[in-house]
Amino acid sequence: DVRIHRIASSIRVIPDFPKPGVMFQDITTLLLDPKAFRDTVDLFVERYRDKRISVVAGVEARGFIFGPPIALAIGAKFVPLRKPKKLPGEVISEDYSLEYGTDKMEMHVGAVQPKDRALVIDDLIATGGTLCAAIKLIERAGAEVLECACVIELPELKGREKLGDRPLFVLVKGA
Ligand code: IMP
Repeated sequence: DVRIHRIASSIRVIPDFPKPGVMFQDITTLLLDPKAFRDTVDLFVERYRDKRISVVAGVEARGFIFGPPIALAIGAKFVPLRKPKKLPGEVISEDYSLEYGTDKMEMHVGAVQPKDRALVIDDLIATGGTLCAAIKLIERAGAEVLECACVIELPELKGREKLGDRPLFVLVKGA
């Protein structure tokens, strides 16, 4: 697919960011190419438009870039999953582990309802810990996660295995 090729070529890899040994996949260069950005959104919209998805949940921060245009195009609501102490209303929160230490993700109570059918979106899956926390928040609200979607997967980190039986859809694979 020429669109996938264009998207893959538009992602910049920055060595040793944010620390030595990490090859950081930088999607800001994808956003500088309007055709690649459009193709990225279109590929997700084509996949999800007829799946009766009622909520697109985006993971802070880069899930806030890709999630809203997809939500608008498929007629779903957008729910931000945020870092601690950012959401002003009542929240539920989920702790998850990072390579060093732990972090927390929060979601507004009432944003997701038990009858909702959710798509979770982020820019990248590495170990899968972040998407797992997102899935838990949505399932604790009583809703179903139909699929998780990312622009990039780092397959060597086997994050996909951590998602259990929730499907993962990605556009490109990085190393
Ligand atoms: P995981 O929890 O190990 O799967 O890490 C995924 C999270 O870390 C996502 O929210 C990503 O945005 C972020 N992340 C990890 N590595 C990269 C990278 O190379 N580029 C951009 N984001 C990354």
